[in-house]
Amino acid sequence: MAAFQESTAETVTIVAGLESTFADELGALTVPWQGAAAPDPQLLVVNEQLAASLRLDVAALRSVDGIGVLSGSTVPVGATPVAMAYAGHQFGGYAPILGDGRALLLGELVSSAGQRVDLHLKGSGRTPFSRGGDGYAVVGPMLREYLVSEAMNALGVPTTRALSVVATGRDVRRNGAEPGAVLARIASSHLRVGTFEFAAPAGRGLAAAHRLRDRPALPGADRTSVNGYTQSLSEVPRGGRRGAGVTGGEVDAHRFRARVMNTDNTTISGETIDYGPCAFLDAFDPAAVFSSIDHGGRYAFGNQPAVLKWNLVRLAETLLPLIDSAPDNAISAASAILETFDERYEGHYAAGLAAKIGLAQPFVDRALVDDLLTLLAEHGADWTGSFRALADELRGNSAPLDQLVPREHIAPWLQRWQGALTENGQGAAETASAMDRVNPLYIPRNHRLDAALRAATDGDLAPFEKLLEVVTHPFDRRDEWADYTEAAPRSFSETFQTFCGT
Ligand code: AMP
Ligand code: MG
Repeated sequence: MAAFQESTAETVTIVAGLESTFADELGALTVPWQGAAAPDPQLLVVNEQLAASLRLDVAALRSVDGIGVLSGSTVPVGATPVAMAYAGHQFGGYAPILGDGRALLLGELVSSAGQRVDLHLKGSGRTPFSRGGDGYAVVGPMLREYLVSEAMNALGVPTTRALSVVATGRDVRRNGAEPGAVLARIASSHLRVGTFEFAAPAGRGLAAAHRLRDRPALPGADRTSVNGYTQSLSEVPRGGRRGAGVTGGEVDAHRFRARVMNTDNTTISGETIDYGPCAFLDAFDPAAVFSSIDHGGRYAFGNQPAVLKWNLVRLAETLLPLIDSAPDNAISAASAILETFDERYEGHYAAGLAAKIGLAQPFVDRALVDDLLTLLAEHGADWTGSFRALADELRGNSAPLDQLVPREHIAPWLQRWQGALTENGQGAAETASAMDRVNPLYIPRNHRLDAALRAATDGDLAPFEKLLEVVTHPFDRRDEWADYTEAAPRSFSETFQTFCGT
């Protein structure tokens, strides 16, 4: 392990106000730790807007001291970096101790909007939780997380954010030697279902779990009320703008195939986290799997809601003794809430899809949506392109849709859709505009992202910077970005996978 480097006055400025309430209050769930020294740190990308919203000085972040902090080499004055402990169900099997094996919670910042957020480093070296791992991360996957999480944020999906990626100058062994990197990540909290699983056993004390639920990210404010805990359970998967975003209309509506959704990768805040094996779908296929180790399809796209519900049952189990000291009462209270999951999920999903086809709420005709999805799947139509093509259709431009689904197959559905719009009294022009505000033109297309990450690994950041600019403006059509709407060539999609622990 590297020694602490001395912090300078400038370092203090960079992270002025860095607090450590989690480490201070929940010592049983943390191990104070420090990052490895980076041999030759170079800042690859920094999120200036996000930095400004966190009242960080961008020029200071770009300085030698700033890069030292962002790489994990330098500990800011007054900070208490910690590795967080958590457990987790991985592919259904329980691992009682996982924890930050290559990450550190550097501390907490308070944003200009008054929100407390975690500043977290990923790839900062071995910790007591590393097991057989090397504690490092490499440039390609860290830039992938940076770009995909920022794209998700631009789409309005609750997600962790990316502050920076620093190349460390260390060779890391993956498929041969790859350049090492550290991602600085911002999240409203790094509490996971797995944190509760770790804290729950009586040996470690319910007090810790009790304090956990007072963290700002966990809903249900009244800790004195017995039902505070059941309230938490009902709000965690509340979908919509926040709340297990993985269930929400947004994620499903954008066809984002989340990463390996183990309980340690499921946040309590509902922010999508850990963009390792993940991708956006081109053609709609509920069976799509992008993780190289997911042979059984547990985390296939269409299975994600069921997996989230399964993860919430694990969360409920950890809360039972807090809900009611009589186990039977606790189980029935928790079950009553979990039983409402399907209906709540369905509500968010239907609303998300109704918005995509421009139907004003309330909307109940699931058959209209389902029949469209069946058509798109049958013809392998590009998901993202199809909804923009439907808006073009309303404007009298049928060429884009004709390229995706043969007219004779979609004509009867178009008639039903037009009928529903007419019945709602919705005009074509304003409906098309409303659709364009929720249906992105630009998503991180897998072949583009892959090419950009390869170039970046070889030292050319230009394709990455361009793609980042495009996907963080997903709804703004620009003629010079026409190439970025194209789906991956079939030859690429047939062999495409992303990998865990990368
Ligand atoms: P993930 O698949 O990234 O969610 O990680 C699952 C667990 O493996 C977590 O405890 C990680 O900290 C740990 N882990 C993943 N990659 C590494 C690595 N290269 N070195 C040490 N621990 C790792
Ligand atoms: Mg993880």
